[in-house]
Amino acid sequence: MTHTLTPGRIAALCRPAAARIDIRVVEQTGSTNADLLAALPGLAAPTLLIAKAQTAGRGRAGRSWLSAAGKSLTFSLAWKFSLPVHALVGLPLAVGVAIAEALAMFQIPVKLKWPNDVLHDGRKLAGILIESASAGKLPPDSSWAVIGIGINMAVSDSMAAEIGRPVAAIPWLADLDQDMLMATLASALAESLLQFEQEGLAAFTQRWNALHAYAGQAVTIIDNGRLLHEGTAQGVDEIGRFLIDTAAGRIAVMAGDVSLRPKE
Ligand code: ATP
Repeated sequence: MTHTLTPGRIAALCRPAAARIDIRVVEQTGSTNADLLAALPGLAAPTLLIAKAQTAGRGRAGRSWLSAAGKSLTFSLAWKFSLPVHALVGLPLAVGVAIAEALAMFQIPVKLKWPNDVLHDGRKLAGILIESASAGKLPPDSSWAVIGIGINMAVSDSMAAEIGRPVAAIPWLADLDQDMLMATLASALAESLLQFEQEGLAAFTQRWNALHAYAGQAVTIIDNGRLLHEGTAQGVDEIGRFLIDTAAGRIAVMAGDVSLRPKE
């Protein structure tokens, strides 16, 4: 590979919305999200931290995200919003749309699984983990979000066995110019984050619903293994709740720590 993650070159390839981003690349770290969260009070600009290898990637609710050097894209973007932290609830959906739209530029079709997964051929290709903070000396109407993304380029048999669920990977992504790939992803993210700040989730609900993996399908909502709801998946509403038509009528589910599964 000729171009392997050079901050200056990634910056030069970014579109204008991403011009302010401070780009950093590290050989290895535990979790890019953890690193940026720890650095937050001192960050002067939006910061993109890319790890060539990540050893303790995080998912929601203490779950882990597995990756391997040269076989995954693992990065986090710390972004400051002029919005209170509670206004960021729908952000994972907007980020899913941004990643899907960036991957579509490379002719990679994906669908979105509520609230935070990117699927290819029905299997998980990328994960999104957003951790937000109103820490530090921020004014009350502003907050930081650390947006962590992992995208599989290749998954070994042993990693697939460890994950224990069907996963997707796009091996030829590793053959692309990695700086160009990262610049495309960072630009799509920055454009969506600016739009989210100005227009809220309303600018993304139709786009999300057009990418919805389970529209019209039978699904269940699970809480720690316990069945909470079952019915027919509709889509998301303008505040990011997942709408399901159940025997008792239409319900709207908040993300929290519940999980969506296709009905078996
Ligand atoms: P939900 O379905 O509720 O979104 P989830 O099980 O997908 O929950 P997340 O926190 O979104 O949980 O993601 C972490 C999970 O993703 C892990 O528990 C594991 O099942 C799966 N996983 C971990 N690494 C990978 C990977 N590289 N590719 C695909 N899936 C992975």
